[in-house]
Amino acid sequence: MNPLLSPFDTAPFSKLKNEHFKPAFLKAIDMARAEIYGIANATDTPTFENTIAALDYAGQQLDRVSSVFFNLNSAETNPEIQKIAQEVSPLLSEFSNDITLNEDLFKRVKAVYDQRHNLKLTTEEQTLLDKKYKSFSRNGANLPDDKKKRLREIDAELSKLKLQFGENVLAETNKYEMHLTSEADLDGLPEGEKEAAAQLAKSKDKEGWLITLDYPSYIPFMKYAKNRKLRKELSIAFGSKGFHDDELDNQKNIIKITNLRHERANLLGYKTHAHYVLEERMAETPEKVHQFLNELLEKAKPAAEREYAELEEFAKKMDNIDRLQKWDGAYYSEKLKQKLFDLDDEKLKPYFKLENVIAGVFKVAEKLFGLQFEEVFDIDKYHPDVKTYRIYDQDKNLVSLFYADFHPRPGKRGGAWMTSYKAQYVQNGINVRPHISNVCNFTKPTASKPSLLTFNEVTTLFHEFGHGLHGMLANTVYPGLSGTSVYWDFVELPSQIMENWCFEKEALELFATHYESGEVIPMDLVQKIKDSATFQEGMATLRQISFGLLDMSWHGTDPSGIANVKAQEQLAFKETDLYPESPETCMSTSFSHIFQGGYSSGYYSYKWAEVLDADAFAYFKEKGIFNKEVATKFKDNVLSQGGTEKPMELYKRFRGSEPKIEALLKRAGLLSETSN
Ligand SMILES: [Zn+2]
Repeated sequence: MNPLLSPFDTAPFSKLKNEHFKPAFLKAIDMARAEIYGIANATDTPTFENTIAALDYAGQQLDRVSSVFFNLNSAETNPEIQKIAQEVSPLLSEFSNDITLNEDLFKRVKAVYDQRHNLKLTTEEQTLLDKKYKSFSRNGANLPDDKKKRLREIDAELSKLKLQFGENVLAETNKYEMHLTSEADLDGLPEGEKEAAAQLAKSKDKEGWLITLDYPSYIPFMKYAKNRKLRKELSIAFGSKGFHDDELDNQKNIIKITNLRHERANLLGYKTHAHYVLEERMAETPEKVHQFLNELLEKAKPAAEREYAELEEFAKKMDNIDRLQKWDGAYYSEKLKQKLFDLDDEKLKPYFKLENVIAGVFKVAEKLFGLQFEEVFDIDKYHPDVKTYRIYDQDKNLVSLFYADFHPRPGKRGGAWMTSYKAQYVQNGINVRPHISNVCNFTKPTASKPSLLTFNEVTTLFHEFGHGLHGMLANTVYPGLSGTSVYWDFVELPSQIMENWCFEKEALELFATHYESGEVIPMDLVQKIKDSATFQEGMATLRQISFGLLDMSWHGTDPSGIANVKAQEQLAFKETDLYPESPETCMSTSFSHIFQGGYSSGYYSYKWAEVLDADAFAYFKEKGIFNKEVATKFKDNVLSQGGTEKPMELYKRFRGSEPKIEALLKRAGLLSETSN
């Protein structure tokens, strides 16, 4: 008996064997395909119900199988599961192509779309219709055959080029190593970092120490190594990946990628790639993104320049450095930060025992949204470390199941994330409640020592739990619009806003107590956390803006006239550069976020999301951080609404107006210098 072949409620983890997955996928894909073909080949008049809604409810078994499988592949994998993932991934993309390229299906979707104004649809239905229609039209469904063919060629070429771009960056990263044979060259590095460098050398049969361009090796060296010459060497190696005019060079790839993206956008009727991408974002247009970045730039720049001057002065005093260079930034910033704050993780950790923090985040959710958390032991789980909860509202109605998987182990990837095993939706009058999961990598307790979190881990837990709430409190009709199925410059609002409670006395008092003495965290420590969180915020903001502007300069205009990658980059960085320019380096040639990953025309969204969460939290601050009325508005208009409506409309209904950048500037300590 294959437990994945028939419908199930909670994921049947304990009955699962690896050999169940592939047959389950094959059958679920067949079932989903049959459902889709049924919709596409129906002979009755296309309606919202028989076409759009039917499409959204189709493939439920496949969704369940996929979520169980891919969640396990992240949280509890093994070589066999990884191999199955390789095998089923092409089957899944083939299936999704079968939908988006199905002309009969598109005809029916378009027939409904064309009469959308006469259908008296609810807002949610209109949104679903628009989303389904665009999933075809944005893939070329409306184009004549020759242009369709060209679109497929571009897509194929682009996926090859993006892959090549990433492979070059990886090869460049792996190619470089800095081999040190004198311990004096590692002066300044903490013992643990030295050990790691020695270990790395040993693993490659070398004497001494190795430093590489991988972050865990590169970052500590730039932060702690006293030797300026070596920092320079490493910094230039890091900054010149894909920029050596050799077979791993990415300059030509960038020119090709940006031109193909532009051509693709034009084919589909958009002015630029950014116009195409931003159509499905809260920001909506490149003009709005530019306006946003420039407004932020104007406010952050004076602070950044002051911080830079202060850092340069500090470096001059300390080591007689005349002109602060890129390879000095991290090093002197770290020294200055230590001098100003004298705050390290070890001082804070005793106040953040994992169990207390979990109880704290539950308490915060209870005070805000009236949720009750009950740990339960009758739900099947994939590992003994996983804890399971049933979450109820005030009236004891089930809101969600919650899986919490907090500790690292082999087979779990790094980082922290929220995911779901079952979506929320309403079907046949039944509100199906979701199964939500948070996965993190916090140190496991031992017999003698509990799991104590760094402050960074505390905010991570609150962050992921915020995504979790977005899933748990979902209350929409259609699964395709439920929970976190929102525009991606909106998806970080529920998560980032939760982090704010970690800085508030009233919230910390609920859970930040010393694990031995029970003493509540001293408020001067909390103040230090706040102050250090905004240390050099002007420079950090400018840096984020510069990446956003660079991204937009590649994707927000016609790139056909661009021949020189470095010159284009210098133009984009003109307003944001603080450090002297270094001719050997180029950011674009290793900017994988936008040339390999999915961030093209989307880099601005990091800052965008911060503006949203700061503005939203300012509302709480105004009325009280546990104010029920504000919390209920947030739940009713944001957390429960998923993607049922344009995010700006949802936000305005919660907040009463569009988000403004002032709250972020205030939180970041950037406001005082710009307003007078
Ligand atoms: Zn997040």
